[in-house]
Amino acid sequence: MAVDAPVEGVFDYLLPMGWAGECEALVGRRVRVPFGASVRVGVVVAMDALDEAPSELKAVEAVLDDVPLLATDDLRLGQWLAGYYHAPLGEVLALMLPASLRGGAALHVLEVRGWRVLPGAPLEVAGAARQTQVLRQLHAASGGVSARDLRGLAAVLRVLEQRGWVEQGVLAPSPLTGEGWGEGTKTSVGAVVADIPPSLVLNAEQVAAHEAITASLGQFSAFLLHGITGSGKTEVYLAAMTAALQRGSQVLVLVPEIALTPQLVGRFAARFKPLGAEAIVVLHSAMTARARELAWQAAQSGRARVVLGTRSAVLTPLPRLGLIVVDEEHDSSYKQQEGWRYHARDVAVVRAQQRGVPLVLGSATPALESLAQVAHGRYRLLRLTERAGGAQSPRLALLDVRKRPLQDGLSAPLLEKMSAHLVKGGQVLLFLNRRGFAPALECHACGHVEACRQCSAPMTVHRGRGRLVCHHCGAERAVPRACAACGSHDLQMPGQGTERLELALRGLFPEFALERIDRDTTRRKGELEDKLARAHSGEARILLGTQMLAKGHDFPGVTLAAILDADSGLMSSDFRAPERLLQLIVQVAGRAGRADKPGEVLIQTHQPEHPLLQALLHGGFERCAELLMRERELARLPPFAHLALLRAEAKDAARAQGYLARCADFFKSEASDVLQVWGPAPAPLERRAGRYRFQLLLVGGQRAPLHRAVEQFAVAQQSWAERRGVKWSLDIDPQEMG
Ligand code: ADP
Ligand code: ZN
Ligand code: ZN
Repeated sequence: MAVDAPVEGVFDYLLPMGWAGECEALVGRRVRVPFGASVRVGVVVAMDALDEAPSELKAVEAVLDDVPLLATDDLRLGQWLAGYYHAPLGEVLALMLPASLRGGAALHVLEVRGWRVLPGAPLEVAGAARQTQVLRQLHAASGGVSARDLRGLAAVLRVLEQRGWVEQGVLAPSPLTGEGWGEGTKTSVGAVVADIPPSLVLNAEQVAAHEAITASLGQFSAFLLHGITGSGKTEVYLAAMTAALQRGSQVLVLVPEIALTPQLVGRFAARFKPLGAEAIVVLHSAMTARARELAWQAAQSGRARVVLGTRSAVLTPLPRLGLIVVDEEHDSSYKQQEGWRYHARDVAVVRAQQRGVPLVLGSATPALESLAQVAHGRYRLLRLTERAGGAQSPRLALLDVRKRPLQDGLSAPLLEKMSAHLVKGGQVLLFLNRRGFAPALECHACGHVEACRQCSAPMTVHRGRGRLVCHHCGAERAVPRACAACGSHDLQMPGQGTERLELALRGLFPEFALERIDRDTTRRKGELEDKLARAHSGEARILLGTQMLAKGHDFPGVTLAAILDADSGLMSSDFRAPERLLQLIVQVAGRAGRADKPGEVLIQTHQPEHPLLQALLHGGFERCAELLMRERELARLPPFAHLALLRAEAKDAARAQGYLARCADFFKSEASDVLQVWGPAPAPLERRAGRYRFQLLLVGGQRAPLHRAVEQFAVAQQSWAERRGVKWSLDIDPQEMG
């Protein structure tokens, strides 16, 4: 049994009274068990018949579910994840359940009343369009159609009932106990004949992609759908999904951040709502616990046909899974950065493999890891090279800002371009990945910089609120009047944040409406939606924001987009920073000139000769990706090597460092033939929230031996004295080197 506790392994218990002989039946159900001094909730993962019960085994206190919540497929995925990420199986399985059920609360089984078609009912009734429509809808849905979805059709249903073609009843609670009508019966999954609105006429490249995916339904196959922004990737997903739904399957769609892309959800909902109110459910962290539980239940019971969710939705039980789509597969939000640090894209690949279903990874800027899989022949590449609907690709240019005076971070040529586009009626999008007013408060007399008391980082000035804020731990205090070191009143705020830029732009372009979109301006519910709506309608003429603005939006009126500070991405110590900068520029560029108006993209930089920027200018994303790929190969970094990052933090720096030094010794003596050890070194942010942070990087040429070494380490270190007072964590395939 896997117990939701931060302890690795599974634990054995005796069955409660009255359950003997029903062995397999308990697998996948939750139970309450004594665990040390406490009582915990666990999920039964296996049952064994014993001739004689060992006396030291404790017994299960209670069985919490009438039916299994997790199917054997889910347990198998959980087991793989626990092994790969070196995470406790109980914690992994807990994440497959909605929060409300993890604590042991009872599942509120929804009694959904509805209608189903009886054997012998015809597919259509000549001359009776409404009867035909209802019959088709009922034929389509294997488990029946809820009364809610048939609202307004009572009269038609009564006629069909009188003719003996349909009947009313409670829809099946869970497909794991048989997905038919009531207990024990199993109906086969019918073909969907309900009307999904037809898609646009796909162009030749879209057709080729769609046909390749559709031909793979029913078997594992991974596709990388690499299409430039606006090339119609979403239409390909929709077409492939329709084909999967027509076979009676469920489809899982992962997106980076739902709150940022209400339009995308709207597009999916519009396409699939005709299948019923529950046909498409959404799962993300901003939902209430109850809403999540309902959505989870719809998915787990097989009623929901399309599940659209963020990172953690990849773990949702889906009994009839037939296709997985990962949109913007390169996006860093797919990586969980706390607890067990899985990568949802990688989990999706494993899940598709285990379930024998196709997987589509879509992006305009695929991750180098995914491109490498294509090169190895493991993923099939599908290309969309033209903008759908005939829009032209934007022109890209570098703005050399060396020796030019910058006005609040804006160069004169950029300001001129902005005026020109605004006067002609275009919208302008400015991108700066730093919120707040200024990234530091510095004394002009002595150079003292106000730092966070808990972290080794300067405080960001938020001038509107009159606060200094730490962007690492959230600590705040009032902006001081005088320098804490020398008492001087000459305090300066060097550098730019979006708040300062907003102020400057309002002064420079008072006649044009402006929207700033970052975490500070979108805190209140509805604010983001309102701002996005004004951006779309064209009411807002200048759009200014952080990466919130760069993700997946379609602003047809934008004719000029500018990246204000490309240099930070070129100069970072994180080896992935240039790749992220490249993705960002290409994504931002994709926002410009989507419709009939040609677009222009400007990149302000002090490094105009930088090989990456030159490659982008002259060879686009492909040339840049090749360049980065060669650099990674020379440096023996992913995708040409496998990484594991061991982090340790403690109140006392020496402890964290000492623990990692011991770890380093272990790996050097036990596994120097299969991996390289880098560190221990201070983390880029050496102190956070009052704790000192160090890290040890393990680099392996081959994945399997690296994982074996880590496994041995996890066991060995349990007895080390150096562990005292140290919080450590293991990050397999780390994305952030901090
Ligand atoms: P992507 O997901 O690659 O950014 P979308 O699927 O959002 O691209 O398509 C971009 C725009 O082009 C959308 O407005 C969409 O409706 C339109 N579009 C997509 N495919 C076609 C097509 N085959 N014919 C006409 N318009 C299309
Ligand atoms: Zn000073
Ligand atoms: Zn801090």
